[in-house]
Amino acid sequence: MCKASKLSKLRHHAFLNQNGRCYYCGYPMWEGNPEAFARLAGLSLEQAKRFQCTAEHLQARQDGGRDVEENIVAACVCCNQRRHYLRPAPDPARYRSIVQKHLAIGSWHRKVMRKLLDAIAFPQPGTSS
Ligand SMILES: [Zn+2]
Repeated sequence: MCKASKLSKLRHHAFLNQNGRCYYCGYPMWEGNPEAFARLAGLSLEQAKRFQCTAEHLQARQDGGRDVEENIVAACVCCNQRRHYLRPAPDPARYRSIVQKHLAIGSWHRKVMRKLLDAIAFPQPGTSS
């Protein structure tokens, strides 16, 4: 199996395990179809792209982290990228608490937050049952 498809399998598994929510910010993410997610959440496509599900290595590859289930969580692009802007990148638990602090004061996903919350509270009719 090639590396990319193994990783995407692990990512999908983590996505399901986390009920489609980002490991760090707890916001819903999408896999495969940004248009549907944008419509559901009432976001522009550009905004929706920030919530694409990515595979996040808890222990970074460069530190010897492997592509194994225990080391992969699902995180939105936004959280994933921001973690690696920080030098050195904080460990996952610390980064999660940084994200949560920013969320509490409204400086993380601020513009789109309310729309997403609405989408969670009022799921798209006709997609289940
Ligand atoms: Zn996130």
